[in-house]
Amino acid sequence: MTLDDSLTTVKGIGPRRAADLERVGLRTVGDLISRFPLRYEDRARFRDIAGIRPGETVTIAGTVASSATRLTRRPGFKIFDALIRDATGAIRAVWLNQPFMARVMQQGSRVVLYGQVDERAPAGLQMTGPQYELAGDGENDSIHTGRIVPIYEKAGAVTGRIQRRLMAEVIRQLPESRQELLPQWLELELELPRWRVAVAEAHFPPPDSNLEQLNAFRSPAQLRLIVEEFFCFQLGLLLRRREADAEQKPSIAVVDDRVREAIGRVVPFRLTAGQEQAFNDIANDLVRPQAMHRLLQGDVGAGKTIVALMAAVIAMENGLQAALMAPTEVLAEQHFLTIRRMFETAPYRVVLLTGSTAAAERRRTLEALASGHAQLVVGTHALVQQAVAFHRLGLVVIDEQHRFGVMQRAVLREKGWRPDVLVMTATPIPRTLALSAYGDLDVSTIRELPPGRTPVRTVARPQSARDEVYAFARRQLDAGRQIYIVYPLVEESAKVDVRAATEAADHLAADVFPEYRVGLLHGRLSSEEKDHVMRAVASGDIQVLVSTTVIEVGIDVANATLMIVEHAERFGLSQLHQLRGRVGRGPHPSYCALLFQAPLTGQGRERLDALIETSDGFVIAERDLALRGPGDCFGTRQSGAPTLRAGDLMRDHELMEQARRYAALALNKDGGTGLIEEVRRSWGHRFGLAGVG
Ligand code: ADP
Ligand code: MG
Repeated sequence: MTLDDSLTTVKGIGPRRAADLERVGLRTVGDLISRFPLRYEDRARFRDIAGIRPGETVTIAGTVASSATRLTRRPGFKIFDALIRDATGAIRAVWLNQPFMARVMQQGSRVVLYGQVDERAPAGLQMTGPQYELAGDGENDSIHTGRIVPIYEKAGAVTGRIQRRLMAEVIRQLPESRQELLPQWLELELELPRWRVAVAEAHFPPPDSNLEQLNAFRSPAQLRLIVEEFFCFQLGLLLRRREADAEQKPSIAVVDDRVREAIGRVVPFRLTAGQEQAFNDIANDLVRPQAMHRLLQGDVGAGKTIVALMAAVIAMENGLQAALMAPTEVLAEQHFLTIRRMFETAPYRVVLLTGSTAAAERRRTLEALASGHAQLVVGTHALVQQAVAFHRLGLVVIDEQHRFGVMQRAVLREKGWRPDVLVMTATPIPRTLALSAYGDLDVSTIRELPPGRTPVRTVARPQSARDEVYAFARRQLDAGRQIYIVYPLVEESAKVDVRAATEAADHLAADVFPEYRVGLLHGRLSSEEKDHVMRAVASGDIQVLVSTTVIEVGIDVANATLMIVEHAERFGLSQLHQLRGRVGRGPHPSYCALLFQAPLTGQGRERLDALIETSDGFVIAERDLALRGPGDCFGTRQSGAPTLRAGDLMRDHELMEQARRYAALALNKDGGTGLIEEVRRSWGHRFGLAGVG
């Protein structure tokens, strides 16, 4: 068996299980073994049955004394129960509607059970649906009980228990060694176990393991695998960056008085200190012979676009073209209109190119770009996908970078001659994360907002106060404003989400705001349909927009003054902040109402309080980092981070910084050895580092 083998080659994985596993990103044997358990449970010590009490969680070992399957009044619903005895006493074990248990728990079998003893059982001790294992059911090593047991997250119909068995099977067949991914000096320095041992022990910890350490993901075996993953990732980033820096761009801009004057003519206000700094960073990049790879981050409305346009002016004044890519057509159009207004008296020709640009218009636009007649193009993915040729593309600005894959960036870059690339994001990322998520980019940050903004007033209310919130919403609508109502994603089921949002929209339209136009936006709409809805919101045709979280990125309607978030307790802090950023974009005072289901957990309360207290996206991002519990959602997807399996950017960010230093060291020490080949081969695809090396 090799790590690249498809999971379908594993005994016990047929097409259905393979499909379920693929849905959570597990395709190969290597994928499977690098996914850690969610947590570990100590099921090592057997308790005497006589000594256990209702409510306790215990592991017991005994013999099946008797068993029976009972029918219930509910048709087809069966209960199987078995009486398990040890030397001290007996306990009843019950499984609901699992008729196959009759075959598993035969009288006289030796079994081990793990689970909670029912609090209120009708007669004596009872466990309902405990984990079980037969002594001698062919699973040689005890894997489900009688040890520290790994608990895996369910993947479709593949339960944690099944995964445990698959994992044991795969690990048994794993090759003894493989191409090393960590240099030996690093293994020694960090006292890490070898790869093969680490894999086995991260999934099936040896008896003397420290449970707390395991659940903190800091056992030597886990550390080995996390460090290895981060190290490879950082090495990939460094290689990509090194390669990019090795190529000189053909046209270097100059920034002289003439250029500065041109900039001054189009920027009507004083820059904030953050804008000033970011602009200087960018200007310095533009005049260097290496291509710029810079991330510009700043909260919504911090003035990133203006800074990007100043960079575009530098390019254009140097005879180069610039392209601005937005994640949606509506956003591209909005940018286009703003830019045209800004450049009204300037000599630059600006064009718009999106998927819905009409054919004749498109032909003209393409010609203008190819001939150099047009100097600035604003567009969507269409800029990448279509046959767009530039005369001299010098600068590419990508708005909301996390919507774009690395590949798309690369393709666009190739359309020019290694242009300078500036990516902008309004999802503030704490420094340590920025370093790891965007390790191959330089980062400029605009922290403050331009003067004169009034922060969005934020309140949290229990759902029981919904009518009061609706009454407030009505006053906004009566005054001519627009409002958003956002519903959370219900995990794993886009269908259910869509149904919930659709029903909510129907109810709101019919019963709550009958005299206003209610629109609906959700992830199942095609991008044309989404654009259609967003356009109707922008033009005021839709006054109440009901939406799932797809609204998060990029809608910009100055007339919208109220954001209502349903089930706010289910959202991550950063996500709520992004949602709130959809209002407060115009002259009217704006509001955000967070409706929550009582009672709130302590963390839920803290999250909502944080939002009420501050509107600084960076403070919020850092709180989010500090607060985040397992499974919580300052989405790494959202922040553009790579797919990590063993490691977790939040939990392990310090290791990521460490890994970065080690990767740099390794590159200096043994750059060009098999290590780099291997990283490229095995990790390039996963991290989207296709262009590496
Ligand atoms: P971002 O792209 O970061 O969301 P924008 O560049 O679109 O922000 O700026 C938001 C709004 O603030 C725009 O209307 C812009 O004209 C205005 N703005 C930007 N910088 C300043 C500034 N220094 N002073 C006053 N207004 C500004
Ligand atoms: Mg913007």
